[in-house]
Amino acid sequence: VDENVAEDMANLESTFKGIARRYRLINRIGEGTFSTVYKAEDLHYHQYKNDWDLEERDAARWSSRRAANRRKHPRYVAIKKIYVTSSPLRILNELDLLHDLRNSDSVCPLITAFRHQDQVVAILPYFQHHDFRDYFRAMTVSDIRLYFRSLFTALKAVHEHEILHRDIKPTNFLYHPDRARGVLVDFGLAERLGTDWQHCACNLSATQRRARLDHSEYAMQDQHAPPAYPNPKTDTRQPRRANRAGTRGFRAPEVLFKCTQQTCAIDMWSAGVILLTLLARRFPFFHSADDVDALLELTNIFGRKKMRETALLHGQIMETNIPSYSDNGHSLEKIVLWCTNRSAKDETGRRIHSLSPDEKEAVAFLERLLECDPAKRITAEEALRHPFLVAAGA
Ligand code: ADP
Ligand code: MG
Repeated sequence: VDENVAEDMANLESTFKGIARRYRLINRIGEGTFSTVYKAEDLHYHQYKNDWDLEERDAARWSSRRAANRRKHPRYVAIKKIYVTSSPLRILNELDLLHDLRNSDSVCPLITAFRHQDQVVAILPYFQHHDFRDYFRAMTVSDIRLYFRSLFTALKAVHEHEILHRDIKPTNFLYHPDRARGVLVDFGLAERLGTDWQHCACNLSATQRRARLDHSEYAMQDQHAPPAYPNPKTDTRQPRRANRAGTRGFRAPEVLFKCTQQTCAIDMWSAGVILLTLLARRFPFFHSADDVDALLELTNIFGRKKMRETALLHGQIMETNIPSYSDNGHSLEKIVLWCTNRSAKDETGRRIHSLSPDEKEAVAFLERLLECDPAKRITAEEALRHPFLVAAGA
């Protein structure tokens, strides 16, 4: 353990009253924007669950057995120290959602939580996993099927509870490739479906939406003429406010377009970005620094036409004049071939390389995840019944 880490752990032990008696800190395993996570041994854990029923005199005898047993079967936990800069409401939200999900398959359960003054720690079972960067390049399509079976099992449970995770990405899904099992962690940004909802045009029918746009002040007369944008200085409309929480590169188009009625479908998109990463063998796949950049990266793939339609879906206008972006974009199959250096063509312009049947099935599944319209995107439950994942169970 490096010196800084040791100092940090000693600091937690000395400032958080009583924690050292209950847990032996082993290492620091994660450091994020909102928390630090430590691996620790639970010193009170033992195999004999009924020891509170024991008589005083038996207890002493049992406690030495317990100590021996603990040495043989230590229980490890992850201690998530939530930064004091997080609002109490935010911390409560995370613990509350984890509590709701306590019996959900593939979701990391919450054992307990403690507060000392303004400091809160959540105690989770320690889950052994590998670093995504170490295994993602070596994953075969069969491995990928297993990965997503596990991830969508977790997401199905989360979504059944009408909870949006909002931050699906490899570091929040702790996966063990040999066991083909993972658990979903980090509900720090999660929210209940419907929180802060305000009407969004994506809930109208296509006809209603068109009628509304035709009457709107920035209706486009001609598809090719630049739209008349309102002057930002004189525009009196309230700026749109929508939840944008999440990690750049994993945000669904409706998050980028500030949809005010976001649904669990945003998590399915993020899972799609993971699948794209695995098939293209590039991590991170998207590099955008901000939301505008992110929209351009998507435009590069999906084309201007699709992005314009997607914007309109949420009552937004998107125009780009970057000549290198095509109107129709590229197929995901082509993107995967490009990224894996298999895009060579013969003299007649025919592609020499193509995807294996397995990969083709994966791309067909990917298309269902990276569907720009959230209403048409596959749900976690449907995903588990999709041929790509059904094959994993066999
Ligand atoms: P943050 O909000 O800081 O991202 P996370 O809950 O995502 O916090 O945890 C950060 C990291 O700590 C994870 O990416 C993972 O490496 C590690 N971690 C979190 N929970 C566990 C756990 N239960 N078992 C093992 N490692 C964990
Ligand atoms: Mg995290």
